[in-house]
Amino acid sequence: MSARVLDGRAVAASLKAELRAAVAEAGDPPPGLAIVRSADEAAAVYAGRLEKLCAELGVPSRSVELAGDTAGAVATVEELGRDGSVAGILVQLPLPDGVDQDAVVDAVDPLKDVDGVHPLNAGRLFLGLPALAPATPLAVMELLRRHDIDVGGKRAVVVGRSNITGKPVAMLLLHANATVSICHSRTPDLGAAVREGEIVVACAGRAGLVGADMIAPGAVVVDVGTNFEDGKLVGDVRYDEVAEVASALSPVPGGVGPLTNLMLVRNLLEAATRARP
Ligand code: NAP
Repeated sequence: MSARVLDGRAVAASLKAELRAAVAEAGDPPPGLAIVRSADEAAAVYAGRLEKLCAELGVPSRSVELAGDTAGAVATVEELGRDGSVAGILVQLPLPDGVDQDAVVDAVDPLKDVDGVHPLNAGRLFLGLPALAPATPLAVMELLRRHDIDVGGKRAVVVGRSNITGKPVAMLLLHANATVSICHSRTPDLGAAVREGEIVVACAGRAGLVGADMIAPGAVVVDVGTNFEDGKLVGDVRYDEVAEVASALSPVPGGVGPLTNLMLVRNLLEAATRARP
């Protein structure tokens, strides 16, 4: 068997056109995005990519560098919460050393929390209430939806239990009526657990963790992992061998990644239009 490719780049192209139109309709001036981040180079590169995408879509964006103290970072985020030109705030992690991440996340206005990191949004997602959900899990669901893969009634296995990928993607799958199990570093016999999955979402951040021996024939596999190996970007899934067993598989790069920032912009539009309680 050679798996169907879950092509994130193709989905991103149509989604971009849709979001550009939605931004144009969202009012004048369009809703703005603030990226709160550390000053280091990797953070600047990531923010630069997101700002470029925002410019392509007609979304005003700016990057705010945090200094190394928690009180200053919290004050900055609170100020953005009061700023009417800012509809969305992305707290880009990790924050600078010495800044208490939880305090900064708690200070984000939950209605502007475009990456769904605030406890209120995480709690609402857990409860199945309308919430701003984290972008990467939304990207996984969008990739599946746009390839007409219905997860309802399927057994889904998520590898990874972080607050930003594993847990929220498990919740989204559950709300979409999958029967979900979550694996992590203390799961005994990971292979046996993952082989139960008709849908497998790998988000462990371990290059090549998931091989063909862990995948049931015909399973759909989404690889969220982004790892660098010998200077090359690779996923958590051994693509070539798993492609022989799975019915559908997302590549790295070119799968979930191209959709993640687009989901942030979609959340921004939702944040801008959602009525304040
Ligand atoms: P994380 O916070 O490091 O969490 C990794 C999770 O995987 C943890 O729950 C850990 O278990 C589990 N894990 C680690 N090694 C394992 C193993 N050998 N067997 C089973 N489970 C294992 O990482 P994250 O932030 O969720 O990110 C996960 C991956 O997704 C990374 O590669 C990251 O770069 C990538 N990512 C990609 C995008 C995108 O846009 N494509 C966005 C975000 C993240 P424990 O909890 O027991 O430690």
